Amino acid sequence: MATRLVGALDQGTTSTRFMVFDGNGAEVARRQLEHAQILPQPGWVEHDPIEIAARVNDVIAGGLRAAGLTGRDLAAIGITNQRETTVVWNPRTGLPWHNAIVWQDTRTDRRVAELEAHRGLLLERTGLPPATYFSAAKLQWILDHVDGLRGAVTRGEAVFGTIDSWVIWNLTGGPDGGRHVTDVTNAGRTQLMNLRTRAWDDELLALFDVPRQVLPQICTSSHPTAFGTTRLTGPAGAEVPITGSLGDQHAAIVGQVCFAPGEAKNTYGTGNFMLLNTGSAIVPSTSGLLTTMAYQCHESAPVYALEGSIAVTGSAVQWLRDQLQIIRSAGEIEALAASVPDTGGAYFVPAFSGLFAPYWRTDARGVIVGLSRFHTKAHLARATLEAICFQTRAVLDAMAQDAGVRLDVLKVDGGATVNNLLMQMQADILGVPVVRPVVSETTALGAAYAAGLAAGVWTDLDSLRTQWKADRQWEPRWSADQREHAYAQWTRAVDRSLNWVVP
Ligand code: ADP
Repeated sequence: MATRLVGALDQGTTSTRFMVFDGNGAEVARRQLEHAQILPQPGWVEHDPIEIAARVNDVIAGGLRAAGLTGRDLAAIGITNQRETTVVWNPRTGLPWHNAIVWQDTRTDRRVAELEAHRGLLLERTGLPPATYFSAAKLQWILDHVDGLRGAVTRGEAVFGTIDSWVIWNLTGGPDGGRHVTDVTNAGRTQLMNLRTRAWDDELLALFDVPRQVLPQICTSSHPTAFGTTRLTGPAGAEVPITGSLGDQHAAIVGQVCFAPGEAKNTYGTGNFMLLNTGSAIVPSTSGLLTTMAYQCHESAPVYALEGSIAVTGSAVQWLRDQLQIIRSAGEIEALAASVPDTGGAYFVPAFSGLFAPYWRTDARGVIVGLSRFHTKAHLARATLEAICFQTRAVLDAMAQDAGVRLDVLKVDGGATVNNLLMQMQADILGVPVVRPVVSETTALGAAYAAGLAAGVWTDLDSLRTQWKADRQWEPRWSADQREHAYAQWTRAVDRSLNWVVP
């Protein structure tokens, strides 16, 4: 039954991976490669789009080859991607006009301060507050800072896309007929799409001074034809239909089969992202959450979500590894943190990109507080893991506030959920059990589901529910007093990170 295999390409913030799943949702193949994080100035984060396109080709070819497969064995490919990251390229040459500006990048903070005057419009149309996070201000920055670019736009020599668009355009032929498309979940994170109509919004285009001709066509997240067909070459090559595409967090909500209103997942990657399915309801937030698309299948109604996005979680672990060099690999943090019973009263607020949900403070920067001569790198490692959990607690409280939903259990996934100590700490700090599925790569799985649904590998969403299986569950061990004391201290530490950046 080789033709029931579905490929998933997950172009993430730190790495690109290709996975192949069978009709039961079980992993058949995987290849993953990191790419460079380009950090030209404090607060700036870029990726090289050419490097990313090369990694995409490499992981697909290498993943298929290692499993003894070729493109002909795949019924379809689904794409999922780091969201908001902004690329502008020349469709005639395939060359980018600038490095991709990554979602974590804060160079647009002055523009965002001006956008405060339009907060009401932005929230009402897009569900998103003014923040450096989203694509529109990044696109405006590129259009305004690259010499001659606005002229190139009028000559048809510049187009914009989030990473999904860039990847699909390249996979489907690049300058030789590549499709310039995106899906509703990615388009919804640009701050240029109207959440109700799911179309580009003229008033928002005017606000960000974005010419309509640079924008990709918006499609549903799962579609039999809209995304085109790959033109992979080499031994692994074949024309494989791309029939699913959605942002990584939206793919994870699909991969975690959170198809009913009230179901939620929390993904632990570079950042953390909790999404709660709100069904057909567009629920405004009063607690610092985003209102966003969950997903939209072909010929189906759109599904919406509330989202709590935390900018820095796993990337703080990478910071310990790459900048401070107190661990050699991300995996080492677990043993180091476990070598001490607690943080000795130290708290680390990793507000490297300001603070995202539920605080939304661009003026915050990272702080470590409560230090004494006693503290070691082990305490810092432990405080880093606790920071991931405390930030998640703040988001969960906001979800309860906005949607009136109290979760019985938190479904988790993502690269950092291999850390069992982190999972236990999360249950302790939330006071809610935490459950990890057998397939923790739910982002890739969700992209495969979106593609396989449109390609007829699976018949409907409900048929996917039975594929979800729990691997392990962690129960809270802390007393309520211990939990509330620790969280109150965390809140004081957050206060100390605020008002740091002087305008
Ligand atoms: P993304 O898709 O955002 O690139 P992944 O889901 O691949 O992220 O997860 C990678 C992140 O998880 C990295 O930031 C890394 O530091 C973190 N990570 C990986 N292993 C561990 C671990 N054992 N403990 C804590 N964090 C980890």
